[in-house]
Amino acid sequence: MISKLRVLKFGGSSLATPEQIKSVAKKIADLREQGISLIVVTSAMGKTTDDLTRLAYNISSHPNRRELDMLLTTGERISMALMSMCLHDLNCPAISFTGSQAGIMTDGSFSNAKIKELRPIRVEEALSKNQVVVLAGFQGVDPISKEITTLGRGGSDTTAIAMAAHFGAERCEILKDVDGVFSADPKLVRSAKLYKKLPIEVLQEFCFWGAKVLNYRSVELAKEHHVPLYVGRSDNFEIGTEITDDYQTFKEGDLLGVNSHSDAIEISVACSDSTEGENSIKNILNECLLPELQILSFEFDHGTYKALATSDPSTLRGAREAFRHASKAHISRDNLATITASFYKRPCEIHIVTQDKREATIQKYF
Ligand code: ASP
Ligand code: MG
Repeated sequence: MISKLRVLKFGGSSLATPEQIKSVAKKIADLREQGISLIVVTSAMGKTTDDLTRLAYNISSHPNRRELDMLLTTGERISMALMSMCLHDLNCPAISFTGSQAGIMTDGSFSNAKIKELRPIRVEEALSKNQVVVLAGFQGVDPISKEITTLGRGGSDTTAIAMAAHFGAERCEILKDVDGVFSADPKLVRSAKLYKKLPIEVLQEFCFWGAKVLNYRSVELAKEHHVPLYVGRSDNFEIGTEITDDYQTFKEGDLLGVNSHSDAIEISVACSDSTEGENSIKNILNECLLPELQILSFEFDHGTYKALATSDPSTLRGAREAFRHASKAHISRDNLATITASFYKRPCEIHIVTQDKREATIQKYF
């Protein structure tokens, strides 16, 4: 363990301009002056990942998944290099690494790879030389195929949390352009309430049901490895949400939050049980080099397995295409949205909304 190590992750909207990068670099240099060892994880500047995805779809209606990952990882490489340059100008020793240089070993699934192992030899070396380590978020390498992979949208959170877990960091801070974790998306709901403290299980529930504040798999990782987590503003280190295991402020039945997924599909498979249905879906996606979808809920009834699933827009686009050509499974309902209300000590309520704007229907799913 490296003493007093902190992992800071900066979101794309906090690094959207050279001025923002410079101001973040200044804060990093100040922290280092205070004797804190730092791993800084950068996201791609502003909307770079969306722009690159759009660019890919301008070139091809079904971009090769390997090449898409090659393209998308460049976004984070740009911001890590710029951040490191800035730190050099501030006389703060720093070195940037890509995911593969940092030893982030993943499975071979493009677009949404899972971290299998960390071998961050160069990170360790740089930390021992008292350099600030700047890491490109959202990426790794499959050690078997040697291919570059991405960790799913918002995957820089996963990079930061995985590093914090590996090095036993005293704190992992996810720094953004919002004040912290709210009871609903503050960009959609103006009256949403900011939590100063929130148990990790509640954050996990929010993110699973669509809160954009953190990648949901990264929260699972943080919970599994007991990573001390904080989510807050990048331009004001005082405002944020401390992730704790303290439930004291809640009463049974309290409404904790409302979250949504704006694009979901229902996949139906004729099969003999849930496991077979689940495997058929995985195989169809796998054959098209598509990652697993996030399964929100499923049921098996009268020889049909139905799964309500979501993912990022590019993966859903690929999945729609894949299921159009599949014989065993099909999309039985498309263009769905989910709205979920989470309560303390009461089951959450999930609604599915069809996205036909003129005739939106809300139904209880379970
Ligand atoms: N740039 C990637 C995205 O926008 C990864 C990240 O920001 O964490 O999803
Ligand atoms: Mg981003």
